[in-house]
Amino acid sequence: MANGIRPIKKMSAHQLTEGFLAMNQRLDMLTHAVASDVQRLNIIVFQFLKTMGFAEEVVCQHCKVINMRPNVDGIEIDDRCADCGKTLEPLPDEAFSNAEVMDEKVEQE
Ligand SMILES: [Zn+2]
Repeated sequence: MANGIRPIKKMSAHQLTEGFLAMNQRLDMLTHAVASDVQRLNIIVFQFLKTMGFAEEVVCQHCKVINMRPNVDGIEIDDRCADCGKTLEPLPDEAFSNAEVMDEKVEQE
């Protein structure tokens, strides 16, 4: 393949299948490589943010998975666990019955 141009021949079904399988395998490898790269980057970014005080670790009360949450202006935080989807920080009961606590929360933001 690497030694220049050669006349185009019709590929056999077998060749097509082989080629397809090889392509699939390469796509698979590429996908895995990209995924592990993204994961590594994710860890680096979050460690950096944590060091700088722009991220916090919250342990899920339901499944004990550690959730890394950005603490940066303009980034909306999902209050649910990335693993089980349950709420990470259940609001205290006063939040529902005491109007003063509600106002306080709003003012802090
Ligand atoms: Zn969880």
